[in-house]
Amino acid sequence: MTLTERQLPVHAPMNQFSVREGELTVGGERLSLLAARVGQTPFYAYDRLLLRARVAALRGVLPRTVKLHYAMKANPMPAVVGLMVGLVDGIDVASAGELKVALDAGANPLEISFAGPGKRDAELRQAVASRVLINLESFREVAALEAICGELGLSARVAVRVNPDFELKGSGMKMGGGPKQFGVDVEQIPELLGCIGRAGLSFEGFHLFAGSQNLRSESICEAQQKSYELALRLAQHAPAPVRFLNLGGGFGIPYFPGEQRLDLAPIGDNLAQLVQRAQTELPDAALVIELGRYLVGEAGVYVARIVDRKVSRGQVYLVADGGLHHHLSASGNFGQVIRKNYPVTIGNKADSRETETVSVVGPLCTPLDLLAERMALPVAQVDDLVVVFQSGAYGASASPQGFLGHPACLEVLV
Ligand SMILES: *Cc1c(COP(=O)(O)O)cnc(C)c1O
Repeated sequence: MTLTERQLPVHAPMNQFSVREGELTVGGERLSLLAARVGQTPFYAYDRLLLRARVAALRGVLPRTVKLHYAMKANPMPAVVGLMVGLVDGIDVASAGELKVALDAGANPLEISFAGPGKRDAELRQAVASRVLINLESFREVAALEAICGELGLSARVAVRVNPDFELKGSGMKMGGGPKQFGVDVEQIPELLGCIGRAGLSFEGFHLFAGSQNLRSESICEAQQKSYELALRLAQHAPAPVRFLNLGGGFGIPYFPGEQRLDLAPIGDNLAQLVQRAQTELPDAALVIELGRYLVGEAGVYVARIVDRKVSRGQVYLVADGGLHHHLSASGNFGQVIRKNYPVTIGNKADSRETETVSVVGPLCTPLDLLAERMALPVAQVDDLVVVFQSGAYGASASPQGFLGHPACLEVLV
């Protein structure tokens, strides 16, 4: 981004992409030329420099010894994972399919961890043979691993995923506290640790993940504090010293008007205190945080072309060649309770002063297929390019691409 370029006149401060000659640029290229290079719409484009900048910004505030992991379910595009492997300290996978992508991308298996509530025996076998760390989520997994280890003549590296007795307050999605399908309830952990010892599995530590999409640093700090305290208590029952303490993540990004970017400084200070305590209380332990959305979400856009412009009873509809089937979350159908518009613009008219209120819809025969509902956008015509910002996470791979049989989208890393 150069300083002379203007910021975008959209309702949210999506100033990570600059505008040149009236067009949004992604990866340093004007959008219309990028679309020509990709050869089709719709597509997702992820900006390498923004991905690098995000990791660098985090490294600037995290204590040097805290390990930064990428939870690749946020964006499993192989090229993105390949880039991230070179930038972060480890990759968190949630299936054998993701494990393959991470290993293909060159991730060090000793720095891969595998979590997920329904690991099939075949997946556990692949994980043991790959020598990755397995985050145990049930008693059954202990028994299955004992058998697999006997068969393969290897030991399994395991950590225990704990369902804590607290929640991450203010999270978009809660994944710990109360009854949950994730991890093992804290009350049952001493018994589980006993089973791990008897099964001869190689215990390495604890994993706590309380929630996702949180913009309140004080809530994140509180959850990290509580996770640390909990791990410290549980460590007394462990069959081996704690070498690995994954304190989760949950860092959110702003999507909607009025949302502010997360303040990292207090989180860095809080982690520095925990690192200091761990030096004496858990001297063998590396502290880890695992982030998905925060690392990749702001670096990506979704681009679709307008194929029709209609007026229905006074309301303008721009009909695009992409929508819900590629970008479920922007349509509002991936976990939102009340639908709100993602930040959107017309990428080839990004600084046009002439705006009108329109709805941008996709080609599917369902009213759920909405990219923007009654939003002020630059006046647009057929062939113009609609851009949805904040689209680097939970996009292509989190959408029902087969629904209605339209072509799949492409993804490019630029
Ligand atoms: C989904 C998930 C993440 C990533 O969450 P984000 O909100 O994308 O940062 C991290 N850890 C675990 C265990 C997850 O399931």
